[in-house]
Amino acid sequence: MIETHELTKRYGGKTAVDGISFRVEPGEVLGFLGPNGAGKSTTMKMIAGFLAPSAGTARVCGHDVIAEPLAAKRAIGYLPEGAPSYGEMSAGGFLQFVADVRGLTGEVRRERIGAVVERLALGGVLLQPIDTLSKGFRRRVGLAAAILHDPPVLILDEPTDGLDPNQKHEVRGLIREMSRERTIVISTHILEEVDAVCTRAVIIAAGRLLADATPAELERRS
Ligand code: ADP
Ligand code: ADP
Repeated sequence: MIETHELTKRYGGKTAVDGISFRVEPGEVLGFLGPNGAGKSTTMKMIAGFLAPSAGTARVCGHDVIAEPLAAKRAIGYLPEGAPSYGEMSAGGFLQFVADVRGLTGEVRRERIGAVVERLALGGVLLQPIDTLSKGFRRRVGLAAAILHDPPVLILDEPTDGLDPNQKHEVRGLIREMSRERTIVISTHILEEVDAVCTRAVIIAAGRLLADATPAELERRS
């Protein structure tokens, strides 16, 4: 579903991601585990087509993210890290906006918006500005936007970072639910997150991949 080959990003003289190659098979939930500054977000953005690589390639569902950006982006839902500010935009307004960006119209558009609002239990907050919602709700709005066009692949950048324990539990439950029908990559700096939701993990440090393992194998090594 995802295949990177020698994926590399340089910022000026600094190499943030250094020749990363890995594959993600259908149905996997891959943990992309590493300390802050390791290159996780940079890698997630390159796979999601939001940042051009300096070298190397990434393919999603067979589509090269640079050569076939539209087909690749159609296959991907992306949750950016943190909590971007949306100004005055309401949760419902944001979903309408994302539906516009995704080119959803007519019956499909109504059906998809209805489906994500129900799946992520957003019915009660649609009129509220996103910036006034709790962090847990804001993350749910982000997840709703990510799955709005029903992509087979999800890229989730630190999906539970900054949430309290209850909210973390809730979001992990949602991710497990989504993993029944989608292939998922999760970036995280927390081993516990890998245990909770991932079927396999790779470790990234200083821009390089160090290991490819199941959570149980990581436990034995640590
Ligand atoms: P992680 O997500 O693992 O915390 P990042 O991918 O955000 O790591 O960053 C990897 C490295 O690249 C870090 O050293 C970071 O400072 C650097 N970096 C990230 N974005 C930029 C940028 N836009 N310009 C310059 N350096 C950057
Ligand atoms: P781009 O405009 O960067 O080429 P797209 O055409 O895929 O990329 O549209 C993505 C834009 O739509 C993003 O820049 C963002 O504003 C918005 N968007 C789409 N999905 C999401 C999401 N899950 N979370 C936040 N913003 C999203």
